[in-house]
Amino acid sequence: MAAGRAGLRRTRFAPSPTGLLHLGHAHAALVAQGRADPGEFLIRIEDLDRARCRPEHEAAIFRDLAWLGLDWAPQVWRQSERAAVYRAALVRLAARGLTYPCRCTRGDIRAALSAPQEGAPVAGPDGLVYPGTCRGRPMAEAAPGDAIRLDMRRALAALPRLPSFTETGALHAGCHRPDPDWLVAGCGDVILWRRDMGAAYHLAVVVDDAAQGITEVTRGADLFEATFLHVLLQALLDLPVPAYHHHALIRDDAGKRLAKRDDARALATLRAEGASPADIRAMIAAQIGA
Ligand code: GLU
Repeated sequence: MAAGRAGLRRTRFAPSPTGLLHLGHAHAALVAQGRADPGEFLIRIEDLDRARCRPEHEAAIFRDLAWLGLDWAPQVWRQSERAAVYRAALVRLAARGLTYPCRCTRGDIRAALSAPQEGAPVAGPDGLVYPGTCRGRPMAEAAPGDAIRLDMRRALAALPRLPSFTETGALHAGCHRPDPDWLVAGCGDVILWRRDMGAAYHLAVVVDDAAQGITEVTRGADLFEATFLHVLLQALLDLPVPAYHHHALIRDDAGKRLAKRDDARALATLRAEGASPADIRAMIAAQIGA
């Protein structure tokens, strides 16, 4: 792993406190801490979605991680406290003419995508690829209820060359560079600022990973594709590109990715049933073949 600003390796586990941590989170946290050794392991609370995040879930996160035997750097960042920093990043992109205000609702987008000339809707890392209805609207027209989108074609035109990133996870190990055609057709004009929630995940995560000097982003393989968007945003904002490590996901018996609503796999439930931290590690190893 590359050395960080102060020569340190630094990784993070970035849960959203929208429910109880389950086996998949335990796996993510253990991988992140393992990759930081020797170095610093940070926890960042990704609580942008204030309507779904709860203080009791945040408290449970720390309780569960401590019980698992994890040890993290004392300073914990909360994304809900960093709106001004995200806004400054948005303003930089806007000043370069790379953003536009969007007033489309989800229904408007679905309706536009169902027009015969649109073909089959494409789902990317930010949901359905936006059909571009509001593209070209000037930022001067932005109203308080508008979302702000990245104009992907303009963003690509602003960059002489797209950066590459090193992936250290076994599933996609190697060096990767975003494909501009995919960014346009498979990712599209992603939302940077939500009308109801403020900064969107994709903007906040690149700003925070850079601000915290993260040298290797460790997270689940479901976010591998989003990394191509993240390195584009890093290039646009002159941020360093960290290494990435996307680990295998823990799945339920039906092969589906565990979700927070799967309380049966919640660490708190397993603990109440008598499981020890060593049992949790063994369950993870059995699931991912480690
Ligand atoms: N907050 C995200 C989650 O809970 C993780 C995002 C990341 O690690 O980049 O799934």
